[in-house]
Amino acid sequence: MNLSKLGDLQGRIKEALEFIDVPQETLQILLSPKSILEVSVPVRKDNGSLELFQGFRIRHNDHRGPTKGGIRYHESINRENLFSLAFRLTLKCAVMNLPFGGSSGGVKIDPKNLSVNELEGLSRSYVNAVFDLVGPDRDILSPDMGTNEKVMSWMYDQYNTLRREITPCAINGKPISLGGSLGRKAATGKGAIIVFEYLIKKLINEQSIFTIAIHGFGNVGSTFALELYRKGHKVVAVSDSNAAIYCEKGLDIPKIVEEKQRGTNFSKMSDIKSGNAYEILERDNLLSLDVDVLAPAALGNQINNINAEKIKAKFIFELANGPVSFEAEKTLEENGIIIIPDILSNAGGLVVSSFEWFQNRQGIAWDEDYINKLLEKYMLTQSEYIYNLAQETSVSLRNASYVCGLRRIIEAINVG
Ligand code: NAD
Repeated sequence: MNLSKLGDLQGRIKEALEFIDVPQETLQILLSPKSILEVSVPVRKDNGSLELFQGFRIRHNDHRGPTKGGIRYHESINRENLFSLAFRLTLKCAVMNLPFGGSSGGVKIDPKNLSVNELEGLSRSYVNAVFDLVGPDRDILSPDMGTNEKVMSWMYDQYNTLRREITPCAINGKPISLGGSLGRKAATGKGAIIVFEYLIKKLINEQSIFTIAIHGFGNVGSTFALELYRKGHKVVAVSDSNAAIYCEKGLDIPKIVEEKQRGTNFSKMSDIKSGNAYEILERDNLLSLDVDVLAPAALGNQINNINAEKIKAKFIFELANGPVSFEAEKTLEENGIIIIPDILSNAGGLVVSSFEWFQNRQGIAWDEDYINKLLEKYMLTQSEYIYNLAQETSVSLRNASYVCGLRRIIEAINVG
């Protein structure tokens, strides 16, 4: 396994490594997985037959602390994309100065094809298969695509059964009643507004009201939109997978969130009485609106070679993971567009999910006020660090965050 297996991450790591003096031996460790486990995950189907699925657990690096990472139930997973996810998580934990490395895993399956019983069997069977690697100080399992609180409860129960003791720190993303953390659901959006307020004001050196378009209005996009609205910014456009809605004067975000919770698609939202009239646009036309800030909050690679030249926003605030391709980033930079990178801007979820482990370790549950204050501290401290590093070294915020993360990991490898 080497850099060429990392996809878009490869170019960004190569660029950042130019700013770091790293011995060849350290580089080898940095670029290699600590371990790759491939397992067969047997599931007893409701019709009595037994089916085997392919599962993985890949740990990238544990020099800064135990590895921690998501479990995906998805048909597209393979060694390469899971290694890339694990590496990204090691970097993100280092950028946020959290005492973890990154891991990733899952089962190659479409969970929609399983009954609830089969899904429970799959989750317990996966824990049986990867048990030896998992542990509070070894590898911590978290939810990701296709897995949720319910799946994590089954995994938690199975892990405790195998271990013959209650071990909350080994499994993250648990329901509150089993030791999960308050504040996790809104943490990515809440963390994002802290980074946004700090960095955008630093970058343009003034207090302003901004116009913003948000591509994707799920958990992260809608929480961020509400926070912006509360701070008095003008969210002029939002989109879901069907369509975008636009209002030059600014959308009434709380009403739109309410409507969305009732299950209305944006293509059918013409009867909202939001106070201001708005237009329905084709979903991806939102990306090229003339706004101060474009916040992609849907899928990866939405800003790419095909549409990069059409982007008119002054800033791109990345909420999704990897929404701007490596090539598109060059075009955007040439056009003077500043990117606030995902590794920092959407790290709030990772920070609060780490708080779950901290609380389980201490055996207490923190209240939400305390959690939000600590989240703010983490987001502000690292935003300031990355901003100063970018200024001192005259590099982009993306480069600065990669340099910061890689330096912290390399230092841990070197002293270890
Ligand atoms: P979600 O499923 O709640 O919302 C996704 C949104 O994107 C929905 O509004 C959906 O309609 C829209 N969408 C789906 N396909 C689309 C398409 N082709 N074009 C435009 N919009 C589309 O997901 P989420 O939890 O809000 O996560 C959004 C992004 O943020 C993902 O890339 C995720 O990996 C990333 N992220 C999430 C978290 C978190 O805590 N949830 C943390 C870090 C990063």
